[in-house]
Parts: sequence; structure tokens; C-alpha cells
Amino acid sequence: MYLSIAKKILPFLSLPFFLGNPSYSEIVDINDSENLVEIIIQEASKTFGKRVGAKKVRWEWCDEPPSYYPTRNFICLNNKDKGLSLAFTAAHEYAHHIQHSVDSLADRSRKNITKVELQADCYAGIMLATNPKYPFTIEDANEMLANVYEKYGDYEYDHEDHHGSGENRMLALRSGFHFGRSEGTHKDAYYKIFCVGDTDK
Ligand SMILES: [Zn+2]
Repeated sequence: MYLSIAKKILPFLSLPFFLGNPSYSEIVDINDSENLVEIIIQEASKTFGKRVGAKKVRWEWCDEPPSYYPTRNFICLNNKDKGLSLAFTAAHEYAHHIQHSVDSLADRSRKNITKVELQADCYAGIMLATNPKYPFTIEDANEMLANVYEKYGDYEYDHEDHHGSGENRMLALRSGFHFGRSEGTHKDAYYKIFCVGDTDK
């Protein structure tokens, strides 16, 4: 299943995906949370979303638990997240929308949630690295990676909703970031495991 999602998406992320390089003409202020989320979701929907025929997604702030993707076409973002953390979670949740759009089986009732989560982290990296309206730099990526490692690691390994350890989440995001930044030419050692989700071979 994870492999089939990746097979539908990743080939598109090769050269044609990157044609029409970013001009960064409308760089957004990363502290303008509302606008930052809009830019991330809008731009990802023009690339990832368009490729898989994803429906338009709606999003709202939630003041309670962490950000999540509760139902089809709807994203809930924690209003306490700011800046790079917010950018990461917005991209991660939109990645779930992509997974759902490609294969409705990629829902939370399925078994290997960790794989779905790590694939979403990788896709988030690709989305952020290729966003034409906000030039996420290597420094931004490093800060985001450190945040992910510290803040978003899930160490309840036996829990059915396990998201992946901080280290794996960081490696998945980094793998996606490098892939995006290199215009699809650089696949690191974790690319196959996390982005493609091909751990059985
Ligand atoms: Zn998730």
C-alpha cells in the first residue's frame, strides 16, 4: 500500500515537477501564521495535489491537541505552533491528504501507521524544499530537523498510533528535503525506507 502510494507520486517528482523554477517573487513572512499555512497548502496542492487529483483541502486552527488530519479534505492545525514548526506540521498534514487522495486505504485504521507517518514526514520535506513562495534554506531545514527530533518524537512504540521516533522522523524529513532541494536527483540512504515506504525488501 505504501509502496503503491509512493509509486503514483514519486515518479512525478522527477524533472517535470521542477520545471518553472521558483522566482520567490512573493516571499511570505514566516511569522504571519495564517499566510504561511495558506502558502504551504496552496503550493503543495499545485504540485503534489494536482498530480494525484486531490480535492481542495480546508483547514482551521484547533486549540486542543496536536495538529491532525481528522477527515477527508480537512486539516486541523494547532494554533500554538509558529514559524518553522507550523510550516512542518502544515506540510505533514497536507501529506496525509495526499496519501488519502491516492489510496483511501491509507487511513488510520490500517496497521502500519508508523510507515504512513514517516512517509508524510518525507513528503513534507519535499513540499517545503520545493515551495516557490518561501525559500526554506538549509538553515531553516536544520532548525526544523532539530525541532522534529526534540518535539515530535514518539517513544510509545507499542501504541497503535505510533508516529515514529524523533530520530526516524528527522531522517524522513531530511530525506524528503534533500530530494526536493536536489530537484529529485538526490536520494539518500533513507529515501527508500521512508519516502517509498519499501521496508520489506
Ligand atoms: Zn501525521
